[in-house]
Amino acid sequence: KNTVHRICSGQVILDLATAVKELLENSLDAGASNIELRLKEYGSELIEVADNGHGLSPDNYESATLKYCTSKINTFSDLQASIGTFGFRGEALSSLCAMSKLSIITRTAEQSTAVRLTYNANGSLASTEATARAAGTTVAVQDLFKPLAVRHKEFKRSIKREYAKLICNITTVFGSKASDTLRPFHAEAGESAHITGFVTKAGVSSGRAGGDRQFFFLNGRPVDMPKASKIINEMFRSLASPAAAGSRPMAVLDFHLPKDSYDVNVTPDKRQAFLQQEGMLLESLRQELSKLWEPSRS
Ligand code: ADP
Ligand code: MG
Repeated sequence: KNTVHRICSGQVILDLATAVKELLENSLDAGASNIELRLKEYGSELIEVADNGHGLSPDNYESATLKYCTSKINTFSDLQASIGTFGFRGEALSSLCAMSKLSIITRTAEQSTAVRLTYNANGSLASTEATARAAGTTVAVQDLFKPLAVRHKEFKRSIKREYAKLICNITTVFGSKASDTLRPFHAEAGESAHITGFVTKAGVSSGRAGGDRQFFFLNGRPVDMPKASKIINEMFRSLASPAAAGSRPMAVLDFHLPKDSYDVNVTPDKRQAFLQQEGMLLESLRQELSKLWEPSRS
């Protein structure tokens, strides 16, 4: 039975990108406004999605990971309503249990502590223990595909290609037609700082919408970076598309900085960052962008 389950599961979770997509959709279904995705070794060791959604209610701890169990439909009329949610098949977590080591940390708004749940391969609950966490859910998928020996070997071998598929999905999420224009971005800034992420070579949104396709992170946390955004848009206008006025590139950039070199407490919502070496960081951003958008390069 386990084998059958494994084979079926392998058809729900085909690869790294579908695993991540299912987890992100669950977070969106849970009403999350903030979702963090963490990958270790391109996701082959760990995929972790943390959200600030409504959490799992205790009566859902056992059933969340059972096949065809979904908390999203209770009656037939729910079926219509659930067209608005991404998932109602109840197969993703069940499949992930069969193909990895799955654990969940979750807390609802009503609960005073969080709970850490681990699951067996057949989807049954293996352990529960109290832990600390703000309201929301963290789902951790360890060693994806390890129980499927052949698939696991292939997965490990082609992990960078798998990761590239994930990047295509990022583009899909952002609704861009420009998947072939997304470029990895890397800029060194001095000894201990660097900027990584993706920038498009072509414009993907109209100017009116502002920075709606530009996302900045500081050591993985979302922050506003109006100065970086301004540099990106100005350089794009002058180098990449002097003719197509008004279009803007998409950018997802993570600034990796030493912990003691910035302060995010300058505004109550902690979204604005004060950077000690802002000038140097922005300059290295500028230099790498000029290489990317240099008109002579294809
Ligand atoms: P489906 O999304 O089709 O219901 P899944 O296997 O993806 O099935 O998830 C099973 C159940 O686990 C969901 O119905 C939901 O109740 C719960 N769940 C999964 N992820 C989350 C999350 N991030 N926040 C809250 N509940 C979740
Ligand atoms: Mg789902």
